[in-house]
Amino acid sequence: MPDSVCFMEINVQGTVRGVGFRPFVYNLAREFDITGTVSNNGQGVVIEAQGVRTSIEAFVRDLRTNAPPLARITSLRDNCSRTKGIFKEFSILASSSGQESCALIPADIAICGNCLDDILAPGNRRYSYSFTNCTNCGPRFTIVQFTPYDRAATSMKHFHLCEDCQAEYNDPQDRRFHAQPNGCPACGPELSFHDGEGQYLETASPLAELASSLRMGQVAAVRGLGGFYLVVDAESEEAVSRLRNRKGRKSKPLTVMTKNLQEAMRVSYVSTMAAE
Ligand SMILES: [Zn+2]
Ligand SMILES: [Zn+2]
Repeated sequence: MPDSVCFMEINVQGTVRGVGFRPFVYNLAREFDITGTVSNNGQGVVIEAQGVRTSIEAFVRDLRTNAPPLARITSLRDNCSRTKGIFKEFSILASSSGQESCALIPADIAICGNCLDDILAPGNRRYSYSFTNCTNCGPRFTIVQFTPYDRAATSMKHFHLCEDCQAEYNDPQDRRFHAQPNGCPACGPELSFHDGEGQYLETASPLAELASSLRMGQVAAVRGLGGFYLVVDAESEEAVSRLRNRKGRKSKPLTVMTKNLQEAMRVSYVSTMAAE
């Protein structure tokens, strides 16, 4: 009976949180006329799928082969049983917590091309917004405080989503669906500039102010979502030695940040493997 309706519970483990996995499952299920649910638990993702057997098989195949770029499926267990016949549609369930927390938390990911487009487009509501991110990029590991990885479990819980951001967060077809650090100039973190004594300084552009401080050879502490890092102009010997003296770090190498690979190749030797 190739076209009989069947029911399958699929357990997926691996890095499947915070990488757009549930919306991927949701859209895939709709494509194959599959009803049921997808939800996170402490171990990973659980899918209940109901549909004709051939669709379920195609669905499982695509789950394995077309998962979003950041999802790493380390194992996939499935059992096909007689239909339960209980699902009218496919839905994404709220997370259950309080279970074992061995689901992997993905690493922080550099800004993606789509988000870059957002911050570079005048008129976009995230134009020049420093904390722009989506399901395919942005902080993860840095902001998480406990698991399951949901906004309430991150340092972003103090920022309440505005209406526009909430709409993105709720829409399985939006690339910011359940992007936990989602935010915008109206509701998310913002930049501010403080002097050496910690006094807040009114300025049109904290970023421009930082850049000019660095050009003058000063040491700055940049605070992100997860902590501070100290920065100086790496091409100023005087600035670098000031930082070394203050940190008591006479010779240990420091990290050099560059804008892109070309710039990194200009100031250092980069092997092919490292470039990749
Ligand atoms: Zn992005
Ligand atoms: Zn917002």
